[in-house]
Amino acid sequence: MEKKLLSSNKKDIAVYREEFEEFLPERIFDFHIHTWKKEFLKYPVTFKRIKQNPLLDKDIVDFSVVDFDLITQRLFPVNKYYGLFFGLPLKEVDLKKNNDYVAEICRKKRSYGLYVPDPDLKEIPIDFFKNKFIGFKPYLDLVPSDILEGSSSLEVSIFNFISKKVLEYSDKYGLILLLHIPRKGRLGDKKNIEEITTINQEYPNIKLILAHAGRSYCYKDIDDHIKNIVDLKNLYIDTAMINDSSVIRLLLEKLGPQRVIYGSDLPVSAFRGKNIDLDNKHYFVTDTKKLWSLPIKKTESSGLTFFIYETIRAIKSAATELALNKKEVESVFFLNAVKLIDKITGSRQEDRSW
Ligand SMILES: [Zn+2]
Repeated sequence: MEKKLLSSNKKDIAVYREEFEEFLPERIFDFHIHTWKKEFLKYPVTFKRIKQNPLLDKDIVDFSVVDFDLITQRLFPVNKYYGLFFGLPLKEVDLKKNNDYVAEICRKKRSYGLYVPDPDLKEIPIDFFKNKFIGFKPYLDLVPSDILEGSSSLEVSIFNFISKKVLEYSDKYGLILLLHIPRKGRLGDKKNIEEITTINQEYPNIKLILAHAGRSYCYKDIDDHIKNIVDLKNLYIDTAMINDSSVIRLLLEKLGPQRVIYGSDLPVSAFRGKNIDLDNKHYFVTDTKKLWSLPIKKTESSGLTFFIYETIRAIKSAATELALNKKEVESVFFLNAVKLIDKITGSRQEDRSW
């Protein structure tokens, strides 16, 4: 990761001290962290691709475990910050090398990771559990172009990027499936809901986590559609890159604090900016010019803070409005994550650092 992304200023420190220090529990478990090294990229990243995915921004380059430790110690100076790790699930990446790296980190940090599978994965590696994997992080970007038949990778079926083997294996062992849903309509898309419901019914032991709360960056994305998911068993959402407190509030109200799991989407959330809603559409706003965002003019007094802090602000604001108690806040930031992990791993003390 580039050094400039690892720095925090007086204003950020004030945000932490004044807004978060009291509110956050001592221990934080982040359920959404990408980690990789630049040598895992098989070929250069094009401009077109950077536009599509901020994780490919040239100011990130890579995100090693050293970067993770540095940045979380800086941004959360009095907390113990744990994480669920997985690779960069993009075409450019050598998935084998990246999954191996995640395994190495998890062993070293006594934590756990998710395996990024090929869309047609047929064999689960025999050392899957030994390598501290407790589930999968499939991604639509990995669908080969011949399956897309000219349409964008956003418009694929969930079953185009998750193989039957992955579903069966996850069901058998009750693993986590961290799902980034496709299609423009998000949780309002009929096919998405049909497919999510199918997974839920046919593979009932899978712990299904909708990344970015089903890509609900705007209130309109979820307002009428949350009813489509509330009754599904074993379903959770992560808060990665959700910066809108009305979205978080609705999730906490309808799903309850036990099914909302804090996730940050580091390293993207280490950029300075905020996800905003303009006319029911999501835009990234950043303090510097990016191929994937709307820039704002930076003056000395109006520099932005980090996306990750904006997520915590949104959670805090919603939690305050709903008068959540300390235990409920701790559930979102820590307990829900570790309970899920314990269910899968049997909570062997020697395998974990918390
Ligand atoms: Zn992510």
